[in-house]
This record gives sequence, C-alpha cells and structure tokens, in this order.
Amino acid sequence: MKAKLNVGEVRKDFPILQSTIHGKPLVYLDNAATTQKPQVVIDKIVQYYTGMNSNIHRGVHHLSQIATDAYENTRIIVSKFINSNNEREIVYTRGATESINLVAISYARNFLKSGDEIIISTLEHHANIVPWQMLRDEMGIVLKIAPIDENGDIIFEQYKELFTKRTKFVSLVHVSNSLGVVNNVNLLTKIAKENNCVVLIDGSQSIQHLKVDVQEIGCDFFVFSGHKLYAPTGIGILWAKEELLNKMTPYQGGGDMILSVSFDKTTYNEVPFKFEAGTQNIEGAIGLGTAIEYLNKLDMQLIAEYENELYKYMREQLSNIPDIRLIGNTSNMTSAASFHFEHIHPHDMGTMLDMKGIAIRTGHHCTEPVMKRYGIPATSRASISFYNTTEEIDKLVLAVDKAQAMFR
Ligand code: PMP
Repeated sequence: MKAKLNVGEVRKDFPILQSTIHGKPLVYLDNAATTQKPQVVIDKIVQYYTGMNSNIHRGVHHLSQIATDAYENTRIIVSKFINSNNEREIVYTRGATESINLVAISYARNFLKSGDEIIISTLEHHANIVPWQMLRDEMGIVLKIAPIDENGDIIFEQYKELFTKRTKFVSLVHVSNSLGVVNNVNLLTKIAKENNCVVLIDGSQSIQHLKVDVQEIGCDFFVFSGHKLYAPTGIGILWAKEELLNKMTPYQGGGDMILSVSFDKTTYNEVPFKFEAGTQNIEGAIGLGTAIEYLNKLDMQLIAEYENELYKYMREQLSNIPDIRLIGNTSNMTSAASFHFEHIHPHDMGTMLDMKGIAIRTGHHCTEPVMKRYGIPATSRASISFYNTTEEIDKLVLAVDKAQAMFR
C-alpha cells in the first residue's frame, strides 16, 4: 500500500494546534504568513539555551565548539535539502527579505550598470520589488515587469519579449504568496539563461510545499525564510553558486567576516562567512536544522501529495459559496487560496472568522501590484499546511458562507 501522511499523528507534534481561540479549537489557516513549530524545534531551542549557549567560531571551550558544530551542521542539512553543491553555498540571513537585499547590494550593485535591466513579475512580494526599485533610484537600473493573465500565470510570450541585450538579472517568485500560483521556474529560468541573465528565485512559499532542487531549477540564487518552514523566526537562507559568492563583496562589515584587520587593510573571510558579520542567530540556525530533519522524516513527497489533495478540496468547497470570487485559478497551485466578495470587506470577513477560532489573513499580503491587477484593494487568504484537515476546511467554508450571507 502507498504510504500516506498520518495527519492525526502529525498534529500531536504541534502544541499550538491543541489550543482554543475565543473558546473554539484553533483552525490555523495562515500558514503563508508563518508556520507553526513542532515540539522538536521548540525543544531544540530550549536545549540550546540550557546546554549549549555560547558564541560560535571564536571559542576554544567546549560549549563554543558544540554550538559551532550544531550551527554548521544546519548548513549541511540545508545544502542537502535543496540539493546545492556544498554547504559553502549556504549563507545565513535574517530571512528571505534580507537574502534578496544582500543579493541586490553585494551582487547587483557591483555587477550591473546604469541602463541595465532587471526583470521581475506582477506576482512578486514587496520584498522582491522594493530592493530593485532602490537600485533603480540609486543607479539608474531599468526595472521591467512580466505581466500575469487573469488566471495568475506569467504570460510567457510577453515575458520573453522583455529581454534585450541590456537585461542582466531576473528575480522571480516560485510560488505566489497571495494567490498560490506555482510558477514554472525551470522554464522561466531557462529562458533567462538563454538571454545570459543571472537568476534569483524567491522560494519563500515553495520550500515548505514542494521538493526544491536548486540545480534542477538552474537558478543562481534561491532564498527563503526559516519561519515559513516550521523553524524559528529571524533565520533565513541565501543559496548562491559558490563562484558568484566568491565574486561578491561583503554585505555588512564586522566580526567573523574577516580573516585579518589592520587600519591599513582588511582581508575578508572565505564564503559563506564573508557574508555573516557579527553574532548570528545561532539558535535560529540550529532550530532550522531540526525543522528540516523533522520534515525529512515525514517526507516532503508525502507532504506535497497530502497538501495537494487538501488544497483541491479547499478550492472546490470554497467555489460552491454564492458570489465568491477566487482570485487566480490555474493548473498548478499550492497552499494559498485568495477570495473576495463584492459585498463584504476582507477585514470584516477575517474578524468574523476569528470569532470562530479560524485564523486567515486579510489585506494585500505585501503584493499590492497583484491587487491592482485584479482591481481589488485586498483579499481574504486561507493557506494550508500538512497539519490541516478536511474537517478544518469544512469549518472554514461554513464560516465564510455564514459571514457572506450575514452581510447581504
Ligand atoms: N517573498 C514571499 C513570496 C513571501 O511570501 C514573503 C513573506 N510573506 C517574503 C518574500 C518575505 O519573507 P520574510 O518576511 O520572512 O523575509
């Protein structure tokens, strides 16, 4: 018999899922904003502070050595998880936002010139728009936008037409946080590579739902945040090809990113340490390793299969509600479903659901250009994880239907 995820068992691993909100069992459907943490990750952080706490890299004493080993071990775990060449290609950051800013400053600011072009898409999170706009304003980069169609798909023909000899960099989201659309990043990257561009993929919403293989995608940079991958907040990853990291200048200066310092000259540390100035989020990195080991044990393939079924069920059930407008509707989607009613503001919807213990997100989801594309100010967004159940979806659908009926 084919193996399946045992959701009943899995739910026991997440203490917060046993809690009640306004007297009702929590139905947590805001996983695109952040995911809940399994007990093993919470325990790891406690273990770190009760038995390991020490600053890394610089100490010869026992605690410093075990903390360093645990911190460096996560690099190996992450490297294997995304199939990078080696752990030197794994840079710790605060999250996807910082990873993108690091690339904008340490790569693009150095290797692009005024008049060079960067392509992004309508689907991008603000974190993959604003850093490039800042470069545009600072040094005259031209920012080009690949449009999406009504379904939420990037329009390939128009994307291809954006490339010119001046196009040097492409930065695209893997899975849209506001719509749930999965971009065909292999093909989008291939086209960019045929045009000699360096490619960054924002994996903030794919790393937790799909089996990611950075070499198969063919990109140069891949970024994500730990907190969306069942790990602590304040830790993130920049994956980059080693040859690029070697060429790039440091992002910040300080301790640990140097080999030697004198007032005349400083030599920088090797990669990835060159990009990790100052004391890092040590417990966050260690917790991230534990979260990935937990996911590996569950099996990302089984997670993806279960989530796909649940996601389809959610969309089908939501689509039966009178007057609902599901925003974005294409063949490859995951986790997030955005919806809108003409007669009820999303914030009212969110508040009504909260009273029933159901956590969804309402607003523009840091993707204002997506909202503009569909002519709406905001959406209600339910986003699932592998610990959600069909019963929870039924509760969501019932509550959404009641709320929309009440506001008529
Ligand atoms: N990109 C996407 C697609 C996201 O969903 C998010 C978080 N919502 C980010 C980037 C930024 O992530 P963080 O705030 O963790 O840096």
